[in-house]
Amino acid sequence: MSLIGAIDIGGTKTAIGVVDENGTVNHECELSTDPTRGFIDSMQRIRRKLHEVADEAGSIDGIGICCPGPLDPFAGILGEVGTLPGWQGGSLVKGFEEEFRVRVAVENDADAAALAEHKWGSGKGTESFIYITISTGIGGGVILGGRLYRGSHGAHPELGHQIISDSGPLCYCGARGCWESLASGTAMSEWMRETESELGVLTAAEICGRARNGEERALRVTARESYFLGLGLSNIVTLFTPEVIALGGGVMKSSDLILGDALAVVNRLCTQVPVEGTRITLSSISSKVGLLGAHEAWASRFL
Ligand SMILES: [Zn+2]
Repeated sequence: MSLIGAIDIGGTKTAIGVVDENGTVNHECELSTDPTRGFIDSMQRIRRKLHEVADEAGSIDGIGICCPGPLDPFAGILGEVGTLPGWQGGSLVKGFEEEFRVRVAVENDADAAALAEHKWGSGKGTESFIYITISTGIGGGVILGGRLYRGSHGAHPELGHQIISDSGPLCYCGARGCWESLASGTAMSEWMRETESELGVLTAAEICGRARNGEERALRVTARESYFLGLGLSNIVTLFTPEVIALGGGVMKSSDLILGDALAVVNRLCTQVPVEGTRITLSSISSKVGLLGAHEAWASRFL
């Protein structure tokens, strides 16, 4: 049975583990990414940790790495990633290949998550499937014909930056009112702060906690979130009519407050496609999606 060293790099934390072909995660551990210490420093710490983990497992047959984009998944070279400042141009492949003498696959984290959810989670057995993560930002990956969809020159489509309202907040992407600027966890915090400034900055989880206690101001935020989440989902259903859309990410931990109304928006607006043919559900492997995604980045590339 092949064992893959799986690495899930995030702006705050990096998870490392060994994943077998049944999707069992072993020797899982975590380290602080500390991106400001520099790309080389972080890579050295990650490789040291992976050596420990690989020794515990006996050996590894390959390495899968998922990381926020933009990045070139085939060359493994990072673009200008907002949460990894100063890492641009760094190779996620080279040092690992040299030290571990195995093949290394790199994938955009949303694409990797889509692959894992398609293999083991809510998208299992489908031909058309879309995974969307709603947390600090919004990202997604598209599976069409049972395979990861890549655009021109391998480009990753940015579902989170589809424009929902051109009078919305200005996003770092340069557009106003893209989905991420209106429906991410950050957007919830921002809107709460703007409308109820005396409360300071609350996280999406804190806002949802208040909404659960019936606090009216927080309920307005969750209602707004449902609406904008529903608008973006409506576009995706109308454009792709996939069999399944799975939602993950931190904001979906409060799906009980948000998802029902968002689905009502989808059902109301998607009149030109058979909306009942698309099942919109939650990620079923959410806590492991990063490491399983890193495994699938490797397995889908090399097996
Ligand atoms: Zn944007």
